[in-house]
Amino acid sequence: MSAPAIRAERLFRFFHSGDDEVLALRGVSLRLAAGEWLALTGPSGSGKSTLLACIAGLDEPDGGNVWIAGRRITRRPEPARARLRARHVGVLYQAGNLLEHLTVAQNIRFVRRVARLQRGGDDVDTRLAAVGLDGRGGALPRELSGGQVARAGLAVALANDPAVLVADEPTGELDELTERAILGLLAARAAAGTAVLVASHSRAVARAAHRVVHLHDGRVLETGEG
Ligand code: ADP
Repeated sequence: MSAPAIRAERLFRFFHSGDDEVLALRGVSLRLAAGEWLALTGPSGSGKSTLLACIAGLDEPDGGNVWIAGRRITRRPEPARARLRARHVGVLYQAGNLLEHLTVAQNIRFVRRVARLQRGGDDVDTRLAAVGLDGRGGALPRELSGGQVARAGLAVALANDPAVLVADEPTGELDELTERAILGLLAARAAAGTAVLVASHSRAVARAAHRVVHLHDGRVLETGEG
C-alpha cells in the first residue's frame, strides 16, 4: 500500500512568553489518504493553525514527526524543508495568497519556478479555467473581484500540483456564494487525488468534508463524518 498523503505522529508544540508556557499541541496524530478531505474544527486557540503550520513544514514541532507522501518533512534544515514544501504542499490562507505586483498568471508561474517544476505544466489557461477564471491571467490582483481573488488564490496554492493542500480558514472572509464555489473546487481537487486539510469555523466546510477532527486545547477531542 502507498504511504498516506499526510502522516503526523504525536506532534507537540510549546510556546514560551516570559514565564508562561503555552502547550499548543499535545501529542496530535493525524493521517490523511490521497483524495481525502478533512476539516479541522475547534475553538480559537485550540491549536489548529499550529497543527497546519507543522504539517505544511512552515513550523517545526518540538516533538513528533510529519511525513508528506512518505517523505519526512520535520527534523530537517530549513532549506530542505522549504524544498519539500515547495514541491509537495499547497498552502491556502484566508487572504494574501497573491503577490500584488504580479498578474494572476505570473503568480502561478512564480510558484512553479520556486518549486523548480518543468515548464510542461505551465499551462496557465487550463489552471485558470479549472477555477472558473478563464481569460483573467493578465489581471493584477487589485483588478479582480473578491470572488475572483479567492479563485485565483486557490489556483496559486495548487500551482505546484501538490500531494497535499493545507488551508487555514480559506472561506472566512467570503460571502456564502463564493464559499460554496470554493468548496466545490476543493471537492473536485480531492476527487482528483489531492489530500485536503482545512481548518475552519465554518459549518459549511465541516459539512462538505469527508471527515471532521475536533481539536481542543492541543488535543484531538473527537473525529467524525463530515
Ligand atoms: P487556533 O488556530 O485553533 O486558533 P493556534 O494554533 O493559533 O490556535 O494557537 C494555539 C495556542 O498557541 C494559542 O494559545 C496561541 O496563543 C498559542 N500560539 C500560537 N502561536 C504562537 C506563537 N508564535 N507564540 C506564542 N504563542 C503562540
